[in-house]
Amino acid sequence: MPVTRKIRVELGQRGYDVAVGVGLLDEIGTEAASFAPTGRAVIITDSNVRGLYAEPVAAACGRAGLQTHVIDFPAGEQHKNLATYGQVMEGLLGLAPPIDRGALIVALGGGVVGDLAGFVAATALRGLDFINVPTTLLAGVDAAVGGKTGVDARGGKNLIGAFHQPRAVVIDAAVLKTLPAGELGNGLAECVKHAVIRDRSLLDFIEDHAEALPAAEPPLLAELIARNVALKAAVVAGDEKEAGQRAHLNFGHTVGHAVEAAAGYSGISHGQAVALGMVAALHVAVGRGLIEPAAVRRVRNVLSALSLPVRFADVPGLPASARDPERLAEIMARDKKARAGVVRFVLPTNLGNVAVFDDVTPDQVSAAVRSLRQ
Ligand code: ADP
Ligand code: ZN
Repeated sequence: MPVTRKIRVELGQRGYDVAVGVGLLDEIGTEAASFAPTGRAVIITDSNVRGLYAEPVAAACGRAGLQTHVIDFPAGEQHKNLATYGQVMEGLLGLAPPIDRGALIVALGGGVVGDLAGFVAATALRGLDFINVPTTLLAGVDAAVGGKTGVDARGGKNLIGAFHQPRAVVIDAAVLKTLPAGELGNGLAECVKHAVIRDRSLLDFIEDHAEALPAAEPPLLAELIARNVALKAAVVAGDEKEAGQRAHLNFGHTVGHAVEAAAGYSGISHGQAVALGMVAALHVAVGRGLIEPAAVRRVRNVLSALSLPVRFADVPGLPASARDPERLAEIMARDKKARAGVVRFVLPTNLGNVAVFDDVTPDQVSAAVRSLRQ
């Protein structure tokens, strides 16, 4: 029997359970059937994940008596757009016999699939139920909980979308075995983020297992995922639509997003960018006397042990434009989370606590970026 932990995301009527374990895909049918009153399930996935996991999930749904369809789209963030959304939507509405509002969407894949399939679910027939089955560590510890769905626009990422909470999330750590090298790091960076903003004991846990984690076995990853899901669930439950404490999850992302954008989203992964962004934010916090330099050293050591970068030079493919303090400052001022050009920073007040600051000066930002050049 797979070992499973259930974590409740408390959102009143929209609340749901997140199951985390090893070997859960084969058991997903019962769960899916309980949310598909008219006996239809539509698995939406990408071209990579389809070949790996659509079959066992469809088979499990079939065993539970569901009539199951699979729709896929080409893998990659560049396909998370309106054109793909349109194709998937038309595919869904073109199924025979036509689906009704009792059909269940099963989002099976990484963050790209969860966002796109969730948005299809939010908008098809004015809203279908969906369950999220994240297959990357990043999607499991981050995107799968919280109900943000959507696609990218020409003008920026995630500009089109809706809040649509899943009815359930099922995370099977066994599927992480097939993740491409480097993908795990994206999730690990968010785990370090969670530890710094809320949970010093999670930082201890990550430190204790840092050497093992990048190649860890599913049970250890399941434990890591469960701890992070519990933390994110608590943050989301307190602030569903990002008015207050949910903003804390942006720790490391102000500079991180700017670096990714300045690099043209190539040559650096999201996790690498967030790792650099966290180091920069920690540097700002030291400069303002909020934390001791020892705290920065500790987080830098954890990141390095996880093979995540702590300076620009650790990311060999990074274009020069992404290291330029002025260019980064300009991008940060344009960010959708900046208000009237004032860059908001989430800064640690000690390890395990953060607060939002609206008064970080351009000098403090540029000193932090320069610290990444050393
Ligand atoms: P993220 O969760 O990092 O936003 P994506 O949805 O972009 O991820 O997925 C990253 C890449 O990994 C994609 O090419 C996707 O098809 C692939 N992928 C997702 N899950 C798995 C898995 N369990 N095994 C192998 N490849 C996977
Ligand atoms: Zn992130």
